[in-house]
This record gives sequence, C-alpha cells and structure tokens, in this order.
Amino acid sequence: MTGMADTTAGAVLEVDLGAIVANWRALGARHPSGPVAGVVKADAYGLGAAAVAPALADAGCRHFFVALPDEALALRPILPAEAMLAVLGGLFPGTEAAFLAHDITPVLNTLAEIDSWAAAARRAGRALDAILHVDTGMSRLGLDPPALAALRADPGRLAGIAVRYVMTHLVSSEIPGDPINAAQARRFAAACAGLPPAPRSLANSSGIFLGGAAASDLARPGAALYGVNPLPGQASPMRAVVRLRARVLAVRAIAPGDTVGYNATFTATRPSRIATVAIGYADGWRRALSNRFSARFDAAPVPLVGRVSMDLTTFDATEHPGIVPGAWLDLIGPGCDVDDVAAAAGTNGYEVLTALGARVRRVYRPA
Ligand SMILES: *Cc1c(COP(=O)(O)O)cnc(C)c1O
Repeated sequence: MTGMADTTAGAVLEVDLGAIVANWRALGARHPSGPVAGVVKADAYGLGAAAVAPALADAGCRHFFVALPDEALALRPILPAEAMLAVLGGLFPGTEAAFLAHDITPVLNTLAEIDSWAAAARRAGRALDAILHVDTGMSRLGLDPPALAALRADPGRLAGIAVRYVMTHLVSSEIPGDPINAAQARRFAAACAGLPPAPRSLANSSGIFLGGAAASDLARPGAALYGVNPLPGQASPMRAVVRLRARVLAVRAIAPGDTVGYNATFTATRPSRIATVAIGYADGWRRALSNRFSARFDAAPVPLVGRVSMDLTTFDATEHPGIVPGAWLDLIGPGCDVDDVAAAAGTNGYEVLTALGARVRRVYRPA
C-alpha cells in the first residue's frame, strides 16, 4: 500500500478490492431474481478496471459491461473466457470482425446495428450473442418505439442473433418515489412481449434497491460496487472502497489580512498556518470545492481555503500542529466520503470518482 507511492506521488488513491467484492456480494443478496454483473466502464469508474474486473471475476462475476469497444479490447484478455463482456455503446460501424474475433458481446441499440450483426452471423455461419437495448424513457441509446414496431412486424430480422438479454436503463432509480420507475417497468414489459422470449436485464445500482419492479435476470450495478451510496439521503448500505490522500508540500504562517490563492478568495482573520497540498483540478480534484470542503487529518476536519488550482490545494492547518511538510491529508475517506465530496462540489459521486486523473497513483488492497 505504501512504498514508492508515498515517495514520488503527490496523491494516492487506495482501492480496497475486498470491499468491492463485498459490495458485489451484498448487491447479489439484494437481487435474488438473477445474477449481478460488474459495470466496469470508464476504467471501473476511475478505480482501475485492470485490477477491479479480475477481482470481480475471481469472486465469481461472469457478466461485465463497458461503454466502448476500446475498453472491451483492453479487458478481454484478462477476463475468463466464459465471462460475457458487453459494450453498452453499441456495435460501431466496421467493428463487427473485432467483436467476433475477441468474443465481445454488442449491445444492439438500433435496427442498423441489428442488421449488421445479423449479416455478420450469416457470414460466420453461426448464431452470434448480443444484448438488445430497449429505450423506455432515457432517449439516449436503445431501440425506440418505431424500431420495436419494425421488429414485431419482421422478427426474421433477428435471425442469427442469439439474444442473451433484453435490457433497458432506468432514468431516476435513485428516487424511489419517482413514478417514472414504474412507467419504465411497464414499457419494458410491453416491449419484451413484442420480442422473442429472452432473459431481461433492468436494474443499475439504485435500481437493485427498488426491489420487485426492477428485479430481473441480470442486474447491472456500477457505482454501488465502488462505494457510491445508491440511496441518496439515507445511510449508505455499501462499504467504502476508496481512500484518497494527498501530500503536504509546504506549510507557511500568514498574518490576519493575508490572502490565499488565485483571486484572493480567502482572507485570514487570525494568525494562520496554510498547508499546500499536491493535488488540483488537473487531477480531477474539482475547482468547485474552493472554500467549500474539509479534508481530514487524524480524523479531524481541515478546511480547504482559497481556490483549488491546477496542481495545488490549500488548507487551513492552524488547528493542527501535526500537519507539516511530508504529512498526508485525507481527501476521501472516513468523515469525508465520496458522496460528501460530491455534495460540496455540487455533483455526484460518479463524477468525483471518474474525474480522478492519471496523476493520482492507484494502489490496491488485495481482495
Ligand atoms: C453506467 C450504466 C449502468 C451502471 O449504472 P450505476 O448507476 O453506476 O449502477 C448500468 N446500465 C447502463 C446502461 C449504464 O450505462
């Protein structure tokens, strides 16, 4: 966990693979209607798919989702051959041979993609796995009502396609009372009734906690695996997964009236000690946190003062004589979890994690 990371890195993201596996198992217990996939797009939400996906596979996970063909090509060699690896972004034109050669499952979002995959199956002389995505309210990807009507009228268009799952994606699953959840479940059931029978995939992280209406043959959580709270406003049912620490580069004494950082947005009102820490917005440590967040040192709050700049962030260390050059502040961890950082930055935990940049050293606690 330490070593060179503590010597040469400015910020370190410690990822607890055992906690990810524990979260995956806990989600499985909440979704008895079918298995739970691992959504590992965007480098496993910034945590590092090359470490996260094999840890989930070792625990028994056999369904993985990424967003892009490039992500799938990188992961396929390190996943078990029998694991399904599906690309949510669809079958990009011209990628049929790559999907086939690397046993990557396309999520078919349009009639054109269905036609291309059926043609690839004819050329290959065998049925090819795919997932059909139905749009039930997101208006982003997935078969729309005219496309579904065309398939109902001409089911032969799916000839050669082995539909592993029909899926849809929930719009507001983190808001259990939103009537759109039930409306989507109804639209999904109606769409499936017009398609050849196939297993269904519905819930994302928060959807799993909706229970019955969102239960399906395959859940697709991402965020909750990584410790983002799937039940905003309630105590999180998930284990914390990450700890983000950053190194104190310098500590200086300033006088009342002195200002800190770009545009002088913080003015000391007392003799103060300012700690300058090696993380900034270039690392995905968001500028919106300026003057709005407290890190932790020995579990005690340390206010962020002044503007977050590209490589540096400043904290008021006046109350903490232990904060000296070479010390480390906790930016995400107990007392300031990923959802707290998100709230202070005016965003969600997904964006906080996926924003963390390549300069932040990832270190892994084994599962
Ligand atoms: C990202 C994504 C998921 C995972 O969502 P979480 O809210 O992170 O659990 C599931 N399904 C689709 C289609 C997605 O794009």
